[in-house]
Amino acid sequence: MPPAEGIEESNKLEGNRPVYTLGVAAQLAGIPAHSIRQYIDNGLLIPYKLESNRHLFSQNDISRLKLIQELIHERGLNFAGVRTLMAMVPCWALRNCSLEDQKSCDAHTENFQPCWMVSEKGSLCKNDNCRNCDVYHALDLQAGIKSVLNTLL
Ligand code: SF4
Repeated sequence: MPPAEGIEESNKLEGNRPVYTLGVAAQLAGIPAHSIRQYIDNGLLIPYKLESNRHLFSQNDISRLKLIQELIHERGLNFAGVRTLMAMVPCWALRNCSLEDQKSCDAHTENFQPCWMVSEKGSLCKNDNCRNCDVYHALDLQAGIKSVLNTLL
């Protein structure tokens, strides 16, 4: 039986709680800290930012780091390749954006940058923190982008 909605929601919140420092995240993901910094600089991961500018990472971030690492080191993609793959997710469909919103949002036509990296976002996303968005987190999943697309078909 699938978990009740409330339980799913609290698991999701728990998984997104930023608790690990960069050093601990590096250990848990098995990825050097300098590689994690590169992933952040290249827009593949949005860590939680403390006022001191230090970053914290959640359990979902660890899954995402492992997925990025696999795409780069086992599947032969570079940073631009991973960004292009992430850009394939139709965020407007997942968020039910209106046609009006789609017209005013670069994510609708941008092929090479994921929606959280485009400069002109539609009104629905303008003031959102992408780190908290389901579209961004859809890509934490080991199941990959096809599983996201399957939910739309
Ligand atoms: S809030 Fe950010 S991650 Fe979510 S759909 Fe909008 S731009 Fe993309």
